[in-house]
Amino acid sequence: MTGTDTPAAPSFFVDLEDRLGAHNYKPLDVVLSRGEGIWVWDTEGRRYLDCLSAYSAVNQGHCHPRIRDALIRQAHRLALTSRAFHNDQLALFYEEVCALTRSHKILPMNSGAEAVESAIKAVRKWGYEVKGVPEDRAEIIVCANNFHGRTITIVGFSTDPAARIGFGPFTPGFTIIPFGDAAALEAAITPDTVAFLVEPIQGEAGVIVPPDGYLRQVRDICTRHRVMLILDEIQTGLGRTGKLLAEEHEGIEADLTLIGKALSGGFYPISAVLSNTEVLGVLKPGEHGSTFGGNPLACAVAREALRVLIDEGMIDNAERMGDYFLARLRALSLAGIREVRGRGLMIAVEFHPEIGGARQFCEALKNNGILCKETHTHTIRFAPPLIIRRDDIDWAMERIERAFSPACRSA
Ligand SMILES: *Cc1c(COP(=O)(O)O)cnc(C)c1O
Repeated sequence: MTGTDTPAAPSFFVDLEDRLGAHNYKPLDVVLSRGEGIWVWDTEGRRYLDCLSAYSAVNQGHCHPRIRDALIRQAHRLALTSRAFHNDQLALFYEEVCALTRSHKILPMNSGAEAVESAIKAVRKWGYEVKGVPEDRAEIIVCANNFHGRTITIVGFSTDPAARIGFGPFTPGFTIIPFGDAAALEAAITPDTVAFLVEPIQGEAGVIVPPDGYLRQVRDICTRHRVMLILDEIQTGLGRTGKLLAEEHEGIEADLTLIGKALSGGFYPISAVLSNTEVLGVLKPGEHGSTFGGNPLACAVAREALRVLIDEGMIDNAERMGDYFLARLRALSLAGIREVRGRGLMIAVEFHPEIGGARQFCEALKNNGILCKETHTHTIRFAPPLIIRRDDIDWAMERIERAFSPACRSA
């Protein structure tokens, strides 16, 4: 570390990171060194309530002991085989995920973006081989303000200038429509359309909840036009919105469902494409792959991460605590707040632009022992681990009110 016996100051880590790392993030000024449940601690021992949960990758809470033990056990046995050979975790992972999500087929990958890319490849191939779309003509419809990851193809169909500008040329074959507008979907479909890719609730856009019935309408339109519905549940899935998958709020089933983030239990990246149709069947040996995809360490971790969600009632808790947190935030009567919205423990507070950016409130919350991150300029997301309890929310609300009050009241 520093080569002395005195522990390094936070600025040591911040400066070193700043000097050596690409500046593709602008983190809050806090250096974390320990986590347990809903709490994290900085290098100086200060405790914070984590209201970001690593963008919902830590739904089960930090360093969950059961998932940690599964990781350690598997790390002692076998960590990586590649898919050139079978391993004794992958099949069981498939069986458990498919049973839980009522899926028929699964493709394991590592990051969320890879799951999205994999789904795009699968539906294109399905379009050519099954639907009969002429070669190289497949179109995929996506929504404005989407967030699906950071690869060239994915940022190519982003509408966020920061994500997109400077990274072209981009992959063709994508059509952008407004989010939450089923009629726009129907109007955009052509004979070459193979899929509609959408988030059930747009997370990075600032927790945008579509109108009731939207997903049901979308499901119906996709079925009628023989278009694959791909739901990106990388953020909304695995309990975050108070259901295992957000699609359950409208009683629908996507053709392909993408999960990632919390499938890792916050320990080891793993993502998956879940398929309800024969679409994944179009992928033959050699046509797609990943060195680390489906490795036994990831599978063992994911199996326990899923079991813990169910066994410990985290999904129901997300629903109940989400309702409570949302109601408490809505009850704040501060002039600077424009809207409070969300579902389950996926919640956003949007401020009026005239009071300045939301970053100031993230700083103020940090000084009050709560870690949050602004999304875009005027919105803060509250997405604590799904194990949060009512008294933790009460504790947080006192501090949230204190952090918001000075700037928010004078609006
Ligand atoms: C985070 C996220 C992704 C990308 O996942 P990575 O693991 O960062 O590649 C894709 N879609 C949604 C909805 C996400 O929230």
